[in-house]
Amino acid sequence: MARVYLGLGSNLGDRQEHIQQALQALQRQGCVLCAVSPLYETEPWGVTDQPRFINAACIVETNLAPRPLLILLKDIEREMGRVPTVRYGPRPIDLDILLYDELRLDTPDLTIPHPGMLNRASVLVPLADIAPDVRHPATGRTIAEHLADLGPTPDVAPYPPGLPAKS
Ligand code: ADP
Ligand code: MG
Repeated sequence: MARVYLGLGSNLGDRQEHIQQALQALQRQGCVLCAVSPLYETEPWGVTDQPRFINAACIVETNLAPRPLLILLKDIEREMGRVPTVRYGPRPIDLDILLYDELRLDTPDLTIPHPGMLNRASVLVPLADIAPDVRHPATGRTIAEHLADLGPTPDVAPYPPGLPAKS
């Protein structure tokens, strides 16, 4: 079985519920869920004029090769009502393959590790919660080190938020 690190995001509708539904769909389709990060609320990246995301990361074990896994993720996105619109645009669910074992793959429709992961706090913060010591196969450095490289990450906050201010 391959060990795969997935990124999950939602910025439409009941965002928290969409993350849970996607995790359930993955398990129904035979992925073994090994770990799930806490949830974070994040400022959108790329197209910034859109609602905030809820992001999480998870670890699954699967017998699916990378391309069939991508097809499964796209099927789940489609079933959950994602209409293909602009890249980086609003969506009820976005599922990304961040890491797949030690694999490095570069094809037009599938790049592993995910090309954007190293400069996105919305990916690295949740991933570092469940995989701090895992090494990026291209850089040889750990997820925790890459997160530290980003410096402060004010655009990523635990969700739901912590205690309200005392009155
Ligand atoms: P993003 O996730 O970057 O916001 P999309 O979800 O719209 O953007 O994905 C656009 C395309 O990225 C997908 O159609 C898919 O073919 C491609 N893609 C390339 N590498 C990956 C990957 N590692 N995980 C998920 N999608 C990927
Ligand atoms: Mg995606």
